[in-house]
Parts: sequence; C-alpha cells; structure tokens
Amino acid sequence: MFALLHLVAGVAGWWLKGLPGALIGIVVAGLVLTALDVFRGARVNAWLREGNLQHIPYRYGLWGEVSERMYRVARRLEKQDQDSQQRLSDFLAAIQASPNGVVLLDGKGAIEWCNQTAAEHFGIDAERDRQQLIGNLVRDPIFVSYFKGTDFSREILIPGRSASASRPVRLSVQIHPYARDVDEGKRLLLSRDVTALEQAEVMRRDFVANVSHEIRTPLTVLAGFVETLQNLPLSEAEQTRYLDMMATQSRRMQTLVNDLLTLSRLEGSPLPSFAEWTPIAQLHEAYAHEARALSESLVLPADPAQVLVLDAGPGKALAGSGAELISALSNLVNNAVRYTPPGGRIEARWTALADGRLEFSVSDTGPGIAPEHIPRLTERFYRVDRSRSRETGGTGLGLAIVKHVAQRHGAELRIESTMGVGSRFTLNFALSRQRDFTAPQVVSA
Ligand code: ADP
Repeated sequence: MFALLHLVAGVAGWWLKGLPGALIGIVVAGLVLTALDVFRGARVNAWLREGNLQHIPYRYGLWGEVSERMYRVARRLEKQDQDSQQRLSDFLAAIQASPNGVVLLDGKGAIEWCNQTAAEHFGIDAERDRQQLIGNLVRDPIFVSYFKGTDFSREILIPGRSASASRPVRLSVQIHPYARDVDEGKRLLLSRDVTALEQAEVMRRDFVANVSHEIRTPLTVLAGFVETLQNLPLSEAEQTRYLDMMATQSRRMQTLVNDLLTLSRLEGSPLPSFAEWTPIAQLHEAYAHEARALSESLVLPADPAQVLVLDAGPGKALAGSGAELISALSNLVNNAVRYTPPGGRIEARWTALADGRLEFSVSDTGPGIAPEHIPRLTERFYRVDRSRSRETGGTGLGLAIVKHVAQRHGAELRIESTMGVGSRFTLNFALSRQRDFTAPQVVSA
C-alpha cells in the first residue's frame, strides 16, 4: 500500500512534469502517508487513554493490528481483574459467614476491614469505623495491654460489648501478625463468643461438686457405722439398728446413682418414637402402687394417714417411652406424698381439656412453694426444703427428670403453688400423642 501510493504519485508527477514532478509526487505521497499515520496513531492513543474497550478504532493496516493486539491484552487483563474481584468478594463473603469475628488491622492498628460478627462482638460499625484505631474503640484494660504488647501466643478473655449483669457475654480474643513483610505490622484479630462454653464449664464443675457432695454424705455415715461395728462390742439389737441405718444410706446412694443414670440416658438417647404406646391404666398402676407404699412408709402409725385420691384415668394410651412416662408421673406423685404432712390430701387426676389435650395433674395440701423458687425447681439438685428432701429419700433430681421426660414427649410442665395451701403440678399431652386404648391397631397389608 505504502509503496504503491509512492509509485502512483511518482508516475503521476513524472507524467505531468518529468523527473522533478516524479520527485515532488513521491515526497507529497510520503508527507500525506506520514500525516495519515500520525492521525491514526493519535486516534489509537486517544482510544487507549479513554480506556473504552467496547470498540476498536482500526481493524486494518499496522495500526489496526496494533489496536487488535492491544484490545486482546486489555480484555485479558480486564477478565483477570474481574476474576480477582470475584475471588476477593467470595473470600470476604466466606469470612462474613464465619461464626467468629475477624478484623484486619494495618501497621498502625487501624481497622482495614471487619466482618459483622466482629462488629457485634466489639460494638463497632463495620463501615463507619474503617480506618479507626482499634485501641480507641475497644477500651477493655486487658485488651489494651494485650494489644500494646508483643506476645500474642495466647488468647485473652474479655467481656463482649453487649454484656450486662443479667446476660454476661465472654469473648476469647487473639491477635495473629500476618503480613508478608513482618515490619509492616499487619495483624489479624480473631474473636470467639465463649459464653456458652464457659457456662457449660461452670455447670459441669457445679454438677461434679454436687454429685461428690451428695455421695460423700451417705458414704461418710456408712464408713462411721462400719467403724463402730468393727470396734465396739454391740448387742445384737444394736447391731441390727446400725445395719438398718447402713441399709438406708446405701439405698440413698443407689437412688442417687439411678437418678443420675436416668438423667444421662434421657440426655443421650434419641427421642422416643410414636411406635410405642402405653395404656394409661398401666401408668396408673405403677405410680399408684409406689405412692401408696411410700405414704405408708413415711406416715408413722400414730399419725393420721394421708388421703390419696388417685384417678385411674381414661381408657387411652400415650405415645412414647412407657418407662420414661412412669418415671415422670411417679416423681410428681411421690413428691406430693413426700412433702405433704400426715393427714394431708393428695389428688392425681387425668382431665380431657377443651382443646383436646390430656392433662395429668397432681395437687397436694403440703406446705406450698414460694414463687421465687418455682422457676428453679427443675434445676439439678435445687431444693427448697433440703432436710425434708433428704429425710424422705429425695435426690434433688426428680423434677429435672420430669422436665426432660416432658420435653421428650412434647408435654408442658406447669407448677402452681400457694404458701400454706398446697401445690399443683401438671403435664399436658398433645392430642397427637393419645389414642383410645381399646381401638385396634391398623395393620397395613
Ligand atoms: P427432691 O428429690 O429434693 O424432692 P425434686 O427435683 O423432686 O427433688 O424437687 C425439687 C424441690 O422442689 C424439692 O427439694 C422440694 O423442695 C420442692 N418440691 C417438689 N415437689 C414439691 C411439693 N409437692 N410440695 C412442696 N415442695 C415440693
């Protein structure tokens, strides 16, 4: 193209003016082509400066090829940029979804980025507080001295920003320096809500202390009796008395271990299935028999007997574990018997409620329970009347068992009580958990 234009201009000049004309023609052609080239170069340059990659200014010639190549390089870079942006936002989204708090700090300790969990933990605003110094925002003294120090090998525990006296929040916080160049001083601040873990640890410690205490008391008494029997010359009647007392203490330990095992089974086993049905008559027989025997053993012959009104219930069956249901119902009826003085009245009834639920209620004319104790009665080892509980063979675990069984059977435990009048414990069973006992089972062919 370049040579052809020069040839045509040279031939045209030679034809018009001979040799000088040919030279002029070639120079003019050179100038025109150079101007055209400069113009095209300027357009390509403007296109590159503009950065608009939607169109290519030239498709042909040298500038066309240059533009095409530049276009391809730019598209590739743009694609790489988009991919990295996508990776970065995926990465940030993943950190956002983390249950732990993550804060990226620059060399001066200013927040570069933090996820929502960290914002909640430290009471900061993920957007507004960017570039703010973390030391100015988290003022806890333990954190401040940890942050100023250089030893980040261990985590520290500080109260969370939303902590209050009634709702403590504990955070585990650790700093990890992470920049490629350590002198940059970039740090990753990780936070973890350990409130539940700490509470579980406190509960575990309390539980072990309680169990040890409950076992140690009868064990000490037993050891004392054994020593007495070994060292003192006792008459046969005295020996029998001591052995009876030893038997009582060992029964107490047995009951405690049995209740502990029941609780751990309730916590560790799968929910009772709807395939097992226990007739209410069978439940009634179990708890009524136990309650009568207990009442006779507790009331002295000289005292007026307790009045036990134990309703046999409707001709229905309940879904769930029969053994668990017997344990819960017996605990409620036995408690009424144990806490009601001689001559008092205990009633256990089954009532069909208007909404279809079946209610089992146990009311007594015992001492009643003060309102402040009622919400805590189902806690393990919580007792209002410690000595009455021990005297009557209580373990402090009965109502904890009742609560677990109720939860596992979709039932609700309610406690109402008036001091000096008596108490009423109720369990409500959903309609879906009852069926007529006499109805034949549907067996599919
Ligand atoms: P315990 O083995 O000590 O009876 P429970 O868990 O069964 O343990 O009951 C917890 C506490 O609730 C008892 O120690 C007792 O103080 C109180 N309580 C339970 N039932 C009654 C009731 N019917 N009348 C009065 N107090 C009761």
